[in-house]
Amino acid sequence: MAEATTTIKGCSFLIDDPPPEVVHTTEELSDDVEMMADTIRKFIDDKIIPQADDIDNMKEGLMLDLFHQAGELGLLMAEIPEEYGGMGLKFFDAMYLVQYMAAGGSFGTASMAHVGIGTLPILFFAKPELKERLLPDLATGVKMAAYALTEPGAGSDALSAKCKAVPTEDGKAYLLTGNKQFITNGAWADVVTVFAKVNGEDDKFTAFVVETPCDGYEVSPEEHKLGIRGSSTCALRFKDCKVPADNILGGIGDGGKIALNILNLGRLKLGIGAVGGAKISMKSAVTYGMQREQFKTPIAKFGLIQQKIAMMASGIYAGDCMTMRTAGHCSDAIDAMAGQGGSMAKLKVLEEFLVECAIEKIYQSEMLDRVVDETVQIYGGYGFTTEYPAERYYRDARIARIYEGTNEINRLVIAGTLFKRVAQGRLALGPVVMKTMGAVMGGKLELPKFDGPLGEMKQRVWQAKRMFHLTAAAFQQGMGSKVTDQMAVMGQQECLGWMADMVMEIYAMESTMLRTQKLIDTKGQDEAKLGIALTLYHADRASRTIMSAAQNVITTIANPGAAVGLLKAADALNPWRPKNMRDLDRQIADAVIATDGELRV
Ligand SMILES: Cc1cc2nc3c(=O)[nH]c(=O)nc-3n(C[C@H](O)[C@H](O)[C@H](O)COP(=O)(O)OP(=O)(O)OC[C@H]3O[C@@H](n4cnc5c(N)ncnc54)[C@H](O)[C@@H]3O)c2cc1C
Repeated sequence: MAEATTTIKGCSFLIDDPPPEVVHTTEELSDDVEMMADTIRKFIDDKIIPQADDIDNMKEGLMLDLFHQAGELGLLMAEIPEEYGGMGLKFFDAMYLVQYMAAGGSFGTASMAHVGIGTLPILFFAKPELKERLLPDLATGVKMAAYALTEPGAGSDALSAKCKAVPTEDGKAYLLTGNKQFITNGAWADVVTVFAKVNGEDDKFTAFVVETPCDGYEVSPEEHKLGIRGSSTCALRFKDCKVPADNILGGIGDGGKIALNILNLGRLKLGIGAVGGAKISMKSAVTYGMQREQFKTPIAKFGLIQQKIAMMASGIYAGDCMTMRTAGHCSDAIDAMAGQGGSMAKLKVLEEFLVECAIEKIYQSEMLDRVVDETVQIYGGYGFTTEYPAERYYRDARIARIYEGTNEINRLVIAGTLFKRVAQGRLALGPVVMKTMGAVMGGKLELPKFDGPLGEMKQRVWQAKRMFHLTAAAFQQGMGSKVTDQMAVMGQQECLGWMADMVMEIYAMESTMLRTQKLIDTKGQDEAKLGIALTLYHADRASRTIMSAAQNVITTIANPGAAVGLLKAADALNPWRPKNMRDLDRQIADAVIATDGELRV
C-alpha cells in the first residue's frame, strides 16, 4: 500500500474538498495480500458454498469443523500481532480481507464474530498474561470467542444492563449473575467477553472474560432465525459464575468504553462484509439472468432487468470506494501513531472515525438489502424457492440492519456525533456554514467550474456539501440556544435521520468521485469508462436523497419566515442533474454481463 501524503481527520470530508491522493485503492495491495484473499475465496468456494444447506441445518459438528479448518489455514489471524501467533497485518490489508471472509453467510457471521467482537476486546484490553494465554489459540481457531453485551431488557440501550458482578470476599474473583440475549457463537464459544455492573452500580460497568465451561454458566437452546441459520445465536445465563479478577478487561468501569470502541470496528467490518455479500449476490443474479430465457431472449438483456443490474453494480462500486476509503484513512492514522500506544492507538483512531464507521454500517447494509431483493426478483419464482441461493442471500442479509447497533441508532450516532464535535470544537463547521450562508443569502453564490471528465461530478459534490452546511444552519437556527443541549438535539430524531442521510450520500458521492479520478489519473479516461458511468449513475440517487432530505429538515424545523429563503437557497445548491439514465443503465449492465457478473473497474 502506498504511503499517504497526509492523514485525514474524522468528519473532515464535510468541510474540506480533499484531492484523490487521500484515498487508497485495492490496486495498491501487495501480492501477498492478494494471495491470502485467494486462499479465503477458495475456502469459501470449496468448503462453505457446497455445504451451505448442511451448515444452515446445523449439521452436527460441521460448523466447528470448518471453523477449525479455517484456523489451521491461518484465516482467523490477520489482525493478531505476530507476538501472539498471528500475522499482524497492516490495518488496510486486514480490512480488505474481511470482504471475502464475511461473505460466507452463516460461516461469515460465526468467523467474523470470533475475529472481531469476540477476540479484539482481549487483544486491546486484556492484561499481558491473559493475552499470552488466550490469543494464540484464538488466532489458530483452537478456541472460539463471543461477545455478550445485549440483554433481554437492554438492546439498543445497552448501558442499561442488569447483569451484576459481585466481588468475592478475598477480592480475587467476581461472581456474575444475569442473562445475556442473542449471543453469536453462544453454543460454541470457549471464551466470552461479558459486560456486567460491579455491585449493580451504573458507573462500574465492566468487561469480564469468562472461560467456558465453568460453574454457573449455562447456554440456552438455539434461537430459530429468519437468516444466518447455521450460526449459533443463544441466550446465556449466569448464576454466581466465578471469574478471576485477572480476567477483567481494562479496569472497573471501563465497560462502556470497551463496548462502544469495539462496536466502531465492528461497524466498519460489517460494511465491508456487506459489500462482499452483495458481490456474490450480483454475480449469481447476472449468471442466472444470462441463462434464463423468456421470449427467446436471456432475461438479462431486457431493459428492466438491466436497470436492476446497474443499480446493483453502482451500489457495490460505491460500497467498495467508501469502505476502502474509510479503511485507508484509519490505516494511515494508525501508521502515523506507530509506536505511540499500540492497540490503544488503533482504538483512538477508530473513535476519530466513528462517524465514517457508522456510515459504512448503515449504507452498505441497506445497499446489500436492495441487491439481494432484486436478486430474488431476477430469479423470478425460482428465487422464492429453496432450490436456488437467492432466498438465502435475501434472508441472510436482513440481520445486517439490526446488529452492531440498529441502523436507527447508527443514524442518531452520525448526526449526534457531528453536533457534539462542533460543540467540543473538534469540527469547525461554524465558519463554513457562515460562509455558505453568506454567499447564498447575499446572492453571491458562484458555482466553481471544474475540468475533466468528472468536472461536473466535482461541482455536484461541492454543491452537496454546501447544501449540508445550509441544512445544518437551518437546524441550528430552528433549535436556537438548545442546539448545544444533546438531549434537545436527540429529541429531533427525524431531522437527525435526514441529516445522517445527507452525510452518508455526500461521503458516497465523494468517495466514488475520488476513486474514479484516481483511476483516470493512473489508467487514463478510456480504461476508467465504467468507473465514470458508475459514478454518474450512483450520483443520481444520492443527489435526489440529499435534496429531499435538505428540504425536509428546512420545512420541519426552520421558522416559517426563514424557511422560504432557505428553500430557495437549497434550490440553487441542488446537486441533481438530469441524465440519460437508460443509456447509463445499459452501459453498466452490459459491462457487468461481459465479466460474468463481476465488477471489474
Ligand atoms: C442474529 C443476532 C445476533 C446477535 N449477536 C449479538 C452478539 O454476538 N452480541 C451481542 O451482545 N448482541 C448480539 N445481538 C443483539 C443485537 O445487537 C440487538 O438485537 C440489537 O442491538 C437491537 O437490540 P434489541 O433487539 O433489543 O432491539 P430494541 O433495542 O428493542 O430496538 C427495537 C427497535 O426500536 C428501535 N429503537 C430503539 N431505541 C431507539 C431510539 N432511541 N430511537 C429510535 N429507535 C430506537 C431500534 O432501532 C429497533 O428498530 C444479536 C442479535 C441477533 C438477532
